Amino acid sequence: MTDHPATLESLRDALDTGAISSRELVEQSLNRVAETDAGLHAFVGLRKEGARADADAADTRRTRGEVRSPLDGIPLAIKDNLVQSGELTRCGSRILEGFVSPYTATAVARLQAAGAILIGRTNMDEFAMGSSTEHSVFGATRNPWDRARTPGGSSGGSATAVAAGIVPGALGSDTGGSIRQPAGFCGIAGLKPTYGRVSRWGLVAFASSLDQIGVLAHTAGDCARLLEAIAGHDPRDSTSLPEPVPRFTEALGGDVSGLVLGLPREYFVEEGVDPEVLNSVRAAVSVLERAGAKVREVSLPHTKYAVATYYLVAMAEASSNLARYDGVRYGRRAEGYDGLTDMYRRSRSEGFGPEVKRRIVLGTYVLSAGYFEAYYRKAQQVRTLLRRDFEQAFRGCDAIATPTSPETAFRLGEKIDDPLRMYLSDVYTVSANLAGIPGISIPCGFVRGLPVGLQLLGRALDESTLLRVADAFQRLTDHHTRVPPQAS
Ligand code: GLN
Repeated sequence: MTDHPATLESLRDALDTGAISSRELVEQSLNRVAETDAGLHAFVGLRKEGARADADAADTRRTRGEVRSPLDGIPLAIKDNLVQSGELTRCGSRILEGFVSPYTATAVARLQAAGAILIGRTNMDEFAMGSSTEHSVFGATRNPWDRARTPGGSSGGSATAVAAGIVPGALGSDTGGSIRQPAGFCGIAGLKPTYGRVSRWGLVAFASSLDQIGVLAHTAGDCARLLEAIAGHDPRDSTSLPEPVPRFTEALGGDVSGLVLGLPREYFVEEGVDPEVLNSVRAAVSVLERAGAKVREVSLPHTKYAVATYYLVAMAEASSNLARYDGVRYGRRAEGYDGLTDMYRRSRSEGFGPEVKRRIVLGTYVLSAGYFEAYYRKAQQVRTLLRRDFEQAFRGCDAIATPTSPETAFRLGEKIDDPLRMYLSDVYTVSANLAGIPGISIPCGFVRGLPVGLQLLGRALDESTLLRVADAFQRLTDHHTRVPPQAS
């Protein structure tokens, strides 16, 4: 491979000049999967023939001058919790064995309408519950910077597919960090939009008040291009926002002078954080400061409750959402059962993995009579306090800068038997979901050969400022142009 990863922008230019065809791009992507997937395991399904046919159609459109969008003819991948008509959807779970979706998610349909070519589906933690992709029935995805390590999760397959140069962009979902954390671990950009910015229709629900579809790519510019294609109101999702969608690409190429960046005091304490990660993030903030941004300390005083609050809310909602997998309507039904109750019990016992079961049990517990007030009600109250923390902080700054994760990619197996340690790795990302605000992670340095993510958080509906800052940073730095050594 070359030292610069192919971006969506560079591939679009190559298509525009006729240097390459969409069909050739798709063949390249499929060849990259064939070369890499035994080692990386980013994909759980490929649409080889479908993608080839779509690419030929895109090439025909181009010869007729009917190019639909900047994504037309570009190969992309989607996370395996986004449904596409006629395709298997597994969500990393045994319980969805054999489930072929009868419809297409709005975000996926919008990519198709823009002419993008969907080459396949990427690996993930079961029902997006996890931070490492190890909770996938298909086995873990590996980090292209070091295959003994996790790419992060739960959108680890999407992050690896982009980082390894298989596709220039992918869709993921982020309930508590599942786009930003794997983007950080894999040295790419990942954007979680404002809650409601992208329709959740056709996203398999994990925790409905937190789930949001977003994008992964090498650059903030490419994130803007992808988000423009998928954002916008959808009457089929009652939480989808009716607000008009700005042209996110217009935020690109701007400068940061005069913009105020807030550094939350509570995120820069040394406890439980790799000091080298903090140094990388501080150095990144200095780059923006030298480019004219003003930096000031802000406070998010309820941060210490964020992980506990997130896991209470997420598990409660998950226990309710996952009640629909009963062996009757979707996917896999146990064999040899004795009556209806036994069929439910066996189908669910055999179909769900240990992390999903843990969450269903805990979520049911916190919603149960007698405990509801102490846990779930309390968590909702603290959620309000966390949201107010951000409202207060954004009175004094335009964006907040933090590490994406307290450490770089950890080893596969390191936290799998210690759920609490796994949960604590989400300490910097979960608050944005609880508050519904947008966040982006971009590569900002390397520690011992592994990428570090800089997270930028913004006001609700202000993805544009995040993209402007992230794009300005990337024009001043070259971390995002490095190619992982173990990508083939
Ligand atoms: N790691 C978090 C969890 O396990 C977040 C997952 C996600 O964003 N889907 O819940």
